[in-house]
Amino acid sequence: MTDLWFDPAKILIGGTWREARETLPLENPSDGSVIGAIARGTAADIDAAVAAAETSRSGWARTPAADRGRILSRLGRMVLEHVDTLARIEAQDVGKPLTQARADAVALARYCEFYGGAADKVHGETIPYLDGYTVYTLREPHGVTGHIVPWNYPMQIIGRSVGAALAMGNTCVLKPAEDACLTALAFADLAAQAGLPDGVLNVVPGLGAEAGAALAGHPGIQHVSFTGSVATGAAVQQAAGANVVPVTLELGGKSPQVVFADADLDAALPFLVNAGIQNAGQTCSASSRILVEESRIDEVTTRMAEAYAALTVGPAMDDPRVGPLISARQKERVEGFLAQDTGLDLVAQGTMVANAPDTGHYVTPRLYAGTDPSHPLAQQEIFGPVQVILPFRDEAEATAIANGTDYGLVASVWTRDGARQMRMARALRSGQVFINNYGAGGGVELPFGGIGKSGHGREKGFEALYGFSTLKTVAALHG
Ligand code: NAD
Repeated sequence: MTDLWFDPAKILIGGTWREARETLPLENPSDGSVIGAIARGTAADIDAAVAAAETSRSGWARTPAADRGRILSRLGRMVLEHVDTLARIEAQDVGKPLTQARADAVALARYCEFYGGAADKVHGETIPYLDGYTVYTLREPHGVTGHIVPWNYPMQIIGRSVGAALAMGNTCVLKPAEDACLTALAFADLAAQAGLPDGVLNVVPGLGAEAGAALAGHPGIQHVSFTGSVATGAAVQQAAGANVVPVTLELGGKSPQVVFADADLDAALPFLVNAGIQNAGQTCSASSRILVEESRIDEVTTRMAEAYAALTVGPAMDDPRVGPLISARQKERVEGFLAQDTGLDLVAQGTMVANAPDTGHYVTPRLYAGTDPSHPLAQQEIFGPVQVILPFRDEAEATAIANGTDYGLVASVWTRDGARQMRMARALRSGQVFINNYGAGGGVELPFGGIGKSGHGREKGFEALYGFSTLKTVAALHG
């Protein structure tokens, strides 16, 4: 494994890199080889990390917001200086094609810049009240926050949750995914170099059922931010509920793009395809359903099929359009869905490059067309490079199909009709709606989160700063 300047098998607690009692193998998803070891953090390590975060809590909370912001801004510049190194680390650890891994590192820097700049701009308000009173609100940090991060976008998710939490004066215990913890450790080391005091950010890699569960239910944690699967999110919420602490859940999706007959297809096409296959479809906001008005469905299907035929699948360090899936387990899971494709037409597939090792976790992207919105592949989150095209007759049917899953994370509508744009933006049951685009270039500034099984709470933008703080009302009677 190249590019590491730190020991990936250690745990960062209270500013000290500690030996782990046990380690887990570190695998390269592009060829299945073991390229090192990472720490298998325990409940005792989580105890120690929470204690370190508690020790640093009041000092960090009392650090002037401008100074917290300055450290985050400096950290953002350091991340930018290390963008290519971070991208190579992520490509080897997660199997993310280099260009996409680099974009994640740039986004991490953007989060640090954004929350660095925002740290001293979260104001309370004064509230007109009875004669003789002055009433105002204070935004205060929760205290020690827990961050449980998945493997699909480690850098972006750390940026949006840890970045916002630190800006508001919280201290953090971060449990990265067992399949993808290297950039979390790299980030924490850069944070220390940028001047973040010891113990403000602690990182304990390890298994979900061990370190993750210990963190979610720890009585010393005052807020939990979780991104990952619905089942684990529900378990995390239950564990945190025992301590009556707030939880942000960023879970999955089955996000639709709705293409009306008057859409500008040239503009839509790159978004239609990319939103499905980016990061090999392992994206909570992946657009896995393409709903098309009947009169243009043949044209959309043909053009998407052409785009699929040009998709290359291969090792992440060769920077193909589509890399491997994260693990053999995830590949098996996706193939389990593909085995249920009866009733759908397989319209097109991507192409595996000749040098893709058999031992890598590859699934070629698949584009399906169907007519039944209740088909399992059109309902369940596959988390692989698979999209299903479905027809609709009119706006009412488009809305019913778009809203007809358990999820509600992201949706888009493609139409030139301004009134329809406004109607659809209101009608779509979704945390974000995009009009004539999808994803808005990453949108660090744009609040993000779901409804339904997609979760609750919002990260990104200013909204995250409110989520990572608690509101105190002060009422003074002075006559
Ligand atoms: P997961 O939800 O099990 O893991 C996400 C994080 O939670 C990891 O850090 C993991 O270690 C931790 N975790 C696991 N069990 C835990 C527990 N009991 N208590 C506390 N933390 C725990 O996700 P996964 O198993 O890696 O992937 C399975 C499915 O989850 C995927 O196929 C996909 O559908 C979904 N997923 C969604 C997202 C997303 O961004 N919405 C991200 C990753 C995975």
